[in-house]
Amino acid sequence: MPPRDPDHKPDLFNPSGVIHAARLPVTSLYIHVPFCGSKCSYCDFYSIPDPDEDLLVFWHDHLILELERLAGEADRQGVLLAPLRTVYFGGGTPSLLPVQLLLSIVARIRALFSFSSSCDITLEANPESFSSREKARTLKLLVAAGVNRVSFGLQTSSDPLLASIGRRHTAKDLEFAISAAARAGVDHLAVDLMTGLPDQRLQDLHETLNFIVKLPVDHVSAYALTLADQTPMDLLYRKCPARFPDDELERQMTHQVIVRLESAGFEHYEISNFAKPAARSRHNLVYWRADPYLAAGPAAASYLGGIRRVNPPSLKGWADLVEDPGQGPYGAATVEELVDEKAARVETMVLGLRLIEGVTRQNFRLRHGIDYEEIFGKRLFSLEKRKLIIQDQEGVRLSERGLDFADLVARELL
Ligand code: SF4
Repeated sequence: MPPRDPDHKPDLFNPSGVIHAARLPVTSLYIHVPFCGSKCSYCDFYSIPDPDEDLLVFWHDHLILELERLAGEADRQGVLLAPLRTVYFGGGTPSLLPVQLLLSIVARIRALFSFSSSCDITLEANPESFSSREKARTLKLLVAAGVNRVSFGLQTSSDPLLASIGRRHTAKDLEFAISAAARAGVDHLAVDLMTGLPDQRLQDLHETLNFIVKLPVDHVSAYALTLADQTPMDLLYRKCPARFPDDELERQMTHQVIVRLESAGFEHYEISNFAKPAARSRHNLVYWRADPYLAAGPAAASYLGGIRRVNPPSLKGWADLVEDPGQGPYGAATVEELVDEKAARVETMVLGLRLIEGVTRQNFRLRHGIDYEEIFGKRLFSLEKRKLIIQDQEGVRLSERGLDFADLVARELL
């Protein structure tokens, strides 16, 4: 890219006030699958435990209708669709769906949208979905349909801990499922792990990390437990806080994750995410870069044309909306927030700082037509003085100390 004249507004900046992200072509689609085998004790995502077949088919049929409306009405809504680069089935437990329903959805997406030649199709999965030979056979069908990334919810390799947080699998189930997925030809395999669980010790985490680095996975997400209000986990915390790691132990756990995964060849590229070379989550990068994306399914959130939307977190409420000719996926009922230029600048900075590489001067100027110092200068100076961020010619990023206080940094930039 040629050097930029600092006084020149880049072409991508639109002085009419329409934010840059609103004018980017959309290349990502998220699908929310709101079903689980049962409810984990810490989870407050919208999901229906143990659904019957009728409910699954009801969801499938409405999802197809929503996808048809997303594609068919995009033009009229000023949404510029480009070939999809990422499709992400999240949940809930997408792997709980009968394979025929999943294949039908993928086929419909292919018919409605164009695909880039290197599109990532990710399926979130729980290990028990593929923990027997018979269940694992479906993986080949998914691969043939284009699913090339499966992200497994492992959380921990300790079976007692898994049972205590309401997970339905064991470490052995995960091993079986991962090797079945690798044999079926899934290109990218990922696992999620959790820290901060009740009664979790550094030794448990040590064993989980050793377990993970021996698996054929190229991506690891490591999240600290968050206590969602009124979940069984939250109630347990109120009763027995001493069973939960304190801040210091949590910090030690986070550091243990970083050191062990980096020593095994994973790059720490986002606060909570680690990838082998060329295996970053392309779909999640769209979120961290505040780029636009489509979404379908109950409770699914999208970002289109500078508007953040959230579908109703209820199967019936969502289905009514999808059927309503006056509403649908682009209707007023789902609008959560209109992102103006001022809010968009904050998003670029706060979300971008989640990435270890941080926010580059060039990218910020390209998106917003202004240097970030002009907006955040004083606050960045104060954060830098406290050694929470590093600034250089290239841009700004969290320091090692800043990684421990990322929430505080974000709050100060809001
Ligand atoms: S499987 Fe995932 S979405 Fe379902 S209840 Fe457990 S944590 Fe929540």
